[in-house]
Amino acid sequence: MTMEKLASLPAVDRLLAEPALLAQAQAHGRRPVTDAVRAELAAVREAMRAGGELPAGATLVEAVVRRIEAASRSTLRRVFNLTGTVLHTNLGRATLPEEAIAAIVDAARHPCALEYDIESGGRGDRDDLIDELLVELTGGEAATVVNNNAAAVFLLLNTLAQRKEVIVSRGELVEIGGAFRVPDIMKRAGARLVEVGCTNRCHARDFEEAIGPRTAMLIKVHTSNYAIEGFTTVVPRAELAAIAHARGLPFVEDLGSGTLTALEAWGLPHEPTPREAIAAGADLVSFSGDKLLGGPQAGILVGRRELIAKLKKNPLKRALRVGKITLAGLEAVLRLYRDPERLPQRLETLRLLTRPQTEILAQAERLQPALARALAGWPLAVTVEPMRSQIGSGSLPVDRLPSAGLVCRPQRKGGTLNRLEQALRGLPLAVIGRIADNALWLDLRCLRSEDEAAFVAQLAERLTTPAARGGRPC
Ligand SMILES: *Cc1c(COP(=O)(O)O)cnc(C)c1O
Repeated sequence: MTMEKLASLPAVDRLLAEPALLAQAQAHGRRPVTDAVRAELAAVREAMRAGGELPAGATLVEAVVRRIEAASRSTLRRVFNLTGTVLHTNLGRATLPEEAIAAIVDAARHPCALEYDIESGGRGDRDDLIDELLVELTGGEAATVVNNNAAAVFLLLNTLAQRKEVIVSRGELVEIGGAFRVPDIMKRAGARLVEVGCTNRCHARDFEEAIGPRTAMLIKVHTSNYAIEGFTTVVPRAELAAIAHARGLPFVEDLGSGTLTALEAWGLPHEPTPREAIAAGADLVSFSGDKLLGGPQAGILVGRRELIAKLKKNPLKRALRVGKITLAGLEAVLRLYRDPERLPQRLETLRLLTRPQTEILAQAERLQPALARALAGWPLAVTVEPMRSQIGSGSLPVDRLPSAGLVCRPQRKGGTLNRLEQALRGLPLAVIGRIADNALWLDLRCLRSEDEAAFVAQLAERLTTPAARGGRPC
């Protein structure tokens, strides 16, 4: 019986002649379509041997199309970040402003003066592209850029403190997302860590007493992703700089996020800026390009000219340098900071962080019916609720931004939430939310109004259950 049924499966060539699959071959080429047909037939054969039914022709064609779509989707897929964490490291951190996107496309498409001085016709330095802007925006003397802030910290330690000691407060031995740990990076850079003070309290005399003949520098690390509260003391950076300078040592600061604007001007909590650190006496500061700065992944180092020159001479600089795509995006983002008044409209990261709760709430009201309709067959309620977003990426760990979104609450216990989370993740443009307190939370802060249509369209098309669509099996 099964053999008979198997024999009635259509041949590869017959399926390939189906209009829908001919169209697929036009779009993707014959080879991927043939591969998908073979793979689907093999899967169906296997299912039938296990007692499954012969699928209808149309169902077979649909399954092949789904296979082709899945295989031709890029792995680095676009998603909707509705997690409530704006700078989500796992979702690519900052989304770039249009100016940066245009600059990146241009640099990708054409030759560009990356290390070429157009004025003189001679060789240039790729850091010159951003040096002047960074000097202007931070008050430092010179700047250089590497792959990320971890690389920046690594380069500065390896250049200035190899086989020497680096003094750091015990309360600042930071771990960022598992892979970046201050003690580990020091070891790999060849520097010896000297921790001083206690976790909650550290005094000027702790640093003074630790300085010895092998001391290379004092470093301050921004406690990006935690806060120590209660009975605490930290030595102000100006005092640390004075202690270091009195002994002829550099004072260096890893700022982590390092925004270039005073965030409190936009109603956000204060985050130390490179300008502030340099004005207080830091000889070198490092920070990320894709956290609060709102640019591409990069590690930026700004400070005293002779220290920057030393970093550039280290052969590791070549191994850690950035390419033209990064520099193009970074330069465009830095230019936006020259016009601080319009920054919240033009710098995407700041625009998202400063979106008023009322606006997000209105958006949630607008989208609630579409989600509720798409989820009509599911045992859950979809409501509009206020919630709190996080900045993320180890920036301002304690503060929460008033936001709003859609909450899906199951009406009974059982795997509904996980199935829903999976279904949303399985959409062509995966929707990533957050499960907490027995509900799925979709924070709409990062859903741009121009993307709403795409968001709604796929909900209606892909999420609606067969029952809600009128019982058509799929
Ligand atoms: C985020 C962070 C880093 C690592 O920066 P990446 O750009 O992710 O490499 C290092 N130090 C501090 C304090 C940070 O906050």
